Amino acid sequence: MAAFRFSLPLLLSLLCIHPFTEILVNSYEEDPTTKTMEDFSGYPIHEPPLPSNSLSVNKESSLSVNKESLQKQIDELSTFSDSPAPSVTRILYSEKDVMARRFVKNLMGLSGLSVREDAVGNIFGRWEGYEPELAAVLSGSHVDAIPYSGKYDGVVGVLGAIEAINVLKRSGFKPKKSLEVIMFTSEEPTRFGISCLGSRLLAGSEALVKALKQTVDNHNISFLDAARSAGYAKDQEDLTSVFLEEDSYSAFVELHIEQGPILEEESISIGIVTAIAAPASIKVEFKGNGGHAGAVLMPNRNDAGLAAAELALAVEKHVLDSGSIDTVGTVGIMELHPGAINSIPSKAHLQIDTRDIDESRRNIVIDKIRQSASTISENRGVQLSEFEIVNQDPPALSEDSVIKAMESASKELNLTHKKMISRAYHDSLFMARKSPMGMIFIPCYKGYSHKPEEYSSIEDIANGVRVLALTLAKLSLS
Ligand SMILES: [Zn+2]
Repeated sequence: MAAFRFSLPLLLSLLCIHPFTEILVNSYEEDPTTKTMEDFSGYPIHEPPLPSNSLSVNKESSLSVNKESLQKQIDELSTFSDSPAPSVTRILYSEKDVMARRFVKNLMGLSGLSVREDAVGNIFGRWEGYEPELAAVLSGSHVDAIPYSGKYDGVVGVLGAIEAINVLKRSGFKPKKSLEVIMFTSEEPTRFGISCLGSRLLAGSEALVKALKQTVDNHNISFLDAARSAGYAKDQEDLTSVFLEEDSYSAFVELHIEQGPILEEESISIGIVTAIAAPASIKVEFKGNGGHAGAVLMPNRNDAGLAAAELALAVEKHVLDSGSIDTVGTVGIMELHPGAINSIPSKAHLQIDTRDIDESRRNIVIDKIRQSASTISENRGVQLSEFEIVNQDPPALSEDSVIKAMESASKELNLTHKKMISRAYHDSLFMARKSPMGMIFIPCYKGYSHKPEEYSSIEDIANGVRVLALTLAKLSLS
C-alpha cells in the first residue's frame, strides 16, 4: 500500500509532468506487410513505380483513419474545460490545461512517440526516421481554447497529427526523415494577451522573451509563476532555450478547421493554404475632461468617447479605401470611462485589429489610422494618450514543395481540393520563419469557430488526417 502511495505520483510525474524528459512509452509493433517507399513518395526508389491507378486505390485503402477512436479522443479532450458542455474553456496553465496536456502526452506515448517538452510547455512527440540526422518533418497545432468556444479549433490539428502517425504506422510506412507532432503552448491570447506564444518563442522572438519577464495576467500572476505552477520554466528565467535552431525542421504542416464557410459552401473536402494574412493590432487611448452630461454645454466638451467613435469609422474608411477585399479592419474593443449615462466620457480605450495578405498595403492602413487618431484628437481637443502598435507581423507564404505535397496527396486520395488563403492566423505564421510551411484546411459547419456551435464531421476530419498522413510521408521521403 505504502509503495503504491509513493509510486503513483512518481510515475505520474515521470510520465506526465516533468519537462525536458524524453520518454519512450511504448515501442510500436511493426506491421509485417511493410509498404515500399514508392507507395508513399510517388517517386521510384528501388523499383519502377506502380501504374498510377493501382497506386491511388492502394493508398485509399491502406491509409485508413480510426474514426471512432479519433472522435472519442476529441470528445474526451473537450471535457477538460472550465465551462459547461458543449462549450469549451481551456486557459493556459490552468488545471484543465494541465490535464489536457497529460492527455495529449499519453496519446503520443501510446503511438510510440518519444515525448519531450520545452521550458514553456510546447510538447513534441518524435517518431525517429531511418536517417535521424536529417531535419525532421513537423505537424501540430494547439489545444487551448478561449472562453466558451468549441472543441475542434486546434484540437483537430493535434489529435489529427497523432492519428496521422498511427495511420502511417498501421500501413507499414517507415519514415526517412523523422516525423514529429507538436502541441503548441497558448495559441490563444486569453490569459496573457499574447497570441501564438509558444510558436513565437520557437521562432526566436527576443522581444517576447523580454516581455514575458514582466507579463502578468488579470490576477497579477506573472507568466513565469504560472508556467512554474504547471511544471515548466523550472530552472531558468531565460526562455531563449525554447528558440529553435536554424534548420531544425525540413517542413511544418498544420491541419486545421477552416473557421470560414468556403469549403462547406463549395462542397470541397480539402483547402490547401498558400498564404496566411498578416495581422496587426493597435491600442489607442483618448483622454478628455469628462463632466456632467447636463451641465457641460456642447461647445465646451472634450468628449473622449466621440473621438473613439470617429476613429472607429475612420478605420472602416481606410480599410475600404485600400480597394482590396483582402484588407480588413475591426474595432473589437471600445471602452468608455467612467461608463455612466450622465457622465461625458473622460477616457476611451480602443483596440484595433487589421490584416491583409499584402503587408505594405496593411501598413498603409496602419499609418492612416495613426494620422486620423492625431487629427481627431486635435479637432476634438482631447489628448491622444496612447497609440501602441502591439504587433505588426508579416504575412507568411506556404512553401511550394509543401503545397505540392499537399496537392498530390489530395489528388491521390481522390479528394476535392482548392488553394486558399488563411485570413485567420495560426502557429504556422510563426513556424514559417523557421521552416518551410503549409496548412491543410477542412470544412466546418457554417464556418463557425470560437463558439460552442463549432463543428466538423468525423468524415471531413478523417479526410484531413489522410491528406496529412500522405503529405507527411511524402515530405519524410523527399
Ligand atoms: Zn486554432
